[in-house]
Amino acid sequence: MHAAETRGRGRSPSGAAIEAPGRTPLSSDLDRLLGQVRQAYLDALPIAAVMITLAEDGACVECANDHFRTIAEWDERMGDRRVSHIPVLRGGPIGTRLATFIRSDDPAYQFETADGRSIAGRHFTVRFARLKRLPGHPPRLLLSMIDRTAQVETEKSLRSEMLRDSLTGLPNRFAFNEKVDAVLADPTFREGSYAVLAVDMTRFSRVNECMGALAGDELLITFARRLVSALRPSDMLARTSGDEFGILLRLDRGLPDALRAAERIKAVLTLPFRLSELEIRVDCAIGCAILNLGVSNADEVLRNAQFALKRAKRLGSTQVYEPIQAAAVRRRFSIETELRCAIEAEELKLAYQPLIDLDSGKVAGFEALARWQLDGQPVAPAEFIPVAEESGLIVQLGRWALESATRTLGDWDRRAGRVLPFHISVNLSPIQISRDDIAGAVSGALAAAGISGDRLTLELTESAIIHDPDRVAKALSALKKFRVRIAMDDFGTGFTSLAMLQKLPIDLLKIDQSFVAGMLSGGDSSAIVRAILSLARALGMETTAEGIDSADLRELLTELGCTYGQGYHFSEPLCADEALAYGLEREP
Ligand code: C2E
Ligand code: MG
Ligand code: MG
Repeated sequence: MHAAETRGRGRSPSGAAIEAPGRTPLSSDLDRLLGQVRQAYLDALPIAAVMITLAEDGACVECANDHFRTIAEWDERMGDRRVSHIPVLRGGPIGTRLATFIRSDDPAYQFETADGRSIAGRHFTVRFARLKRLPGHPPRLLLSMIDRTAQVETEKSLRSEMLRDSLTGLPNRFAFNEKVDAVLADPTFREGSYAVLAVDMTRFSRVNECMGALAGDELLITFARRLVSALRPSDMLARTSGDEFGILLRLDRGLPDALRAAERIKAVLTLPFRLSELEIRVDCAIGCAILNLGVSNADEVLRNAQFALKRAKRLGSTQVYEPIQAAAVRRRFSIETELRCAIEAEELKLAYQPLIDLDSGKVAGFEALARWQLDGQPVAPAEFIPVAEESGLIVQLGRWALESATRTLGDWDRRAGRVLPFHISVNLSPIQISRDDIAGAVSGALAAAGISGDRLTLELTESAIIHDPDRVAKALSALKKFRVRIAMDDFGTGFTSLAMLQKLPIDLLKIDQSFVAGMLSGGDSSAIVRAILSLARALGMETTAEGIDSADLRELLTELGCTYGQGYHFSEPLCADEALAYGLEREP
């Protein structure tokens, strides 16, 4: 029994046993007084506090205040004061830490705790602090508990507000991302065991516009309810933005599960929606992304699903995200950004490929071809020219190519001290014709370079002519005033009508390399090339065969009467200095 064990030792005013050998009656009066002071201090505190003495035979409560007594559902004045007999201090999160603290030398220790069992689900900041030891007294510590329940509850409800969409009551994008992140971070996560669906209500903005925001809200709520009815309880539905919903699905059998869920969603939307007096039909587009180890976070997963969703809207059926397509789009996007900077910084170069007069074998001119390196790697014109066309950058790029090609020819003349017998060919994009003042650009470039118009050939693809024949006809006749030659590039791949060919001021047909390459293997290519050559002759046009890469092809085309040849057999595209040297060696 505790009382028996402590018999013969000093007693504190509140009855706790104190290890104090050799006390005098005087010191016990002082102890009593000190005890009263301590009790008064604790009683004055607004928080739960208890003073514990650390005697050799165990820790005991010396005094406690009412706040502590209420929390602990215990009263030290009722009898046993040993800490090991007070539920809240004996075990649980507080008791375990208290035992560790007593064994340590730490001056203080503080922690947060919520223990449903011994402290009725309340939240506390608990602090243990050793008190200065008085001579002849056992060590003491003060345990205090600040009740943070109200604060924690407020934070909790604020957080749940923050994570909820106020209109539909569904989790919002934050909550959705949190959940997806938790799935990705779970050590038991298996690749392909979850999918995210992005669901977009089609025609929502029209309803909103025609019937007002209130009807729009009502529609969103009903739509959300329908979606819920198509899902399993374990799936998570969230409103991720205006009329877009995100669904996190656990997949038992992989992708087919996700596609079935998409079908169920489509099925619950087949019945019309009733809005006030009206019945309207609403459909949705669904994009799906499977969670795999390649994705780093929820944002990325949702973006992937939205990427698939975009395609789904275009194609009219549920689409699954495929990383290769997204990578291609990203590359296109970064090419656009980098190309814009490269054009502004004049980082592009022109390469010049010799055009050979097939009869004489001499150099007749050069085609200027744009060259660009991104991070030290060459990017093919076939990749960046379409990006330049889509983004409109081709206008700047085209002007730059025109100006620098003509300037190079002017420089060559100056270096040779005479007008060289070469012409220069520059490619012209259809977009330039529709967006730029080509005649102005050409006359400016010719004047700046100091060369005459008849030394410039502009190569135009067939697609340009088909797009807007009237505009092209106008632009070309304006160019003709400068005596510029016009070549039709990649001829045979488009659909130019003979009438158009006759009507436009075209001087030269460039036979596409796909036909030239196929000539030696027999088949249709040879017949097509022969037909183009006789067509050109009939129309009084010259011809260039592109892609001549062997002596056999050169011979064959020379025999057939093709005017010029271009290809690796003669030379690859060269830098300006190399091209000049090549030309001077093979002057007419
Ligand atoms: P293109 O005008 O038909 O240019 C001929 C293409 O054939 C060039 O490709 C050239 O390098 C390539 N080539 C030449 N000889 C051979 C050969 O023997 N075999 C093979 N396989 N290919 C050969 P490149 O330089 O990649 O240019 C591709 C296309 O990009 C050009 O086709 C042209 O349409 C466009 N392009 C290039 N530079 C410009 C430019 O400054 N402006 C515009 N609008 N388009 C350009
Ligand atoms: Mg060309
Ligand atoms: Mg070509």
